[in-house]
Amino acid sequence: MIFHTRDFNITEKLDYFAAGASVMYGLYYTPIRVFRLDQNSQAKQSVLRAWTAICISLYLCHVTYLTAWSWDYTYNMAANVAAGIVQNVLWSWFSIQRYRKLQKTWAAWPGLIVAWIILAMSLELFDFAPWGRMVDAHSLWHLGTVGPTIWWYSFLIKDAQEDLASHRLKA
Ligand SMILES: [Zn+2]
Repeated sequence: MIFHTRDFNITEKLDYFAAGASVMYGLYYTPIRVFRLDQNSQAKQSVLRAWTAICISLYLCHVTYLTAWSWDYTYNMAANVAAGIVQNVLWSWFSIQRYRKLQKTWAAWPGLIVAWIILAMSLELFDFAPWGRMVDAHSLWHLGTVGPTIWWYSFLIKDAQEDLASHRLKA
């Protein structure tokens, strides 16, 4: 928010690195939930440790490249879109599997949220001249992310409740 009102070197860096960290965190936890890497088996714990190290390294390389090598907008966008697409594919696939298994509408939410995000993301990729010199594609992208954030939070709650209920049944 500060960057969008005060465009300085430091605010730009903070905006980009925070956005990158948020995308990276999404990429990190998606396989943890989809493949249940949070479960307490030796093999899964080792995979989780390796995945954690990979994600931290990738993020540090990303920040180092942008800071020490070149402040490359095209690379930054490509890296974020690539990380985003991987999560989108995983969540869409997961959503289809879960919907088939549970037969509950909310199980399909991640797929629908992904579709919404892709539509909003197209505003980032297909930029246009601002309407009335005020409303630009990037502001609409930010506006478009409000809805799916709330929706996503509701899904996470439903998913956790479902998990708890299925564990109670097994116990
Ligand atoms: Zn922004």
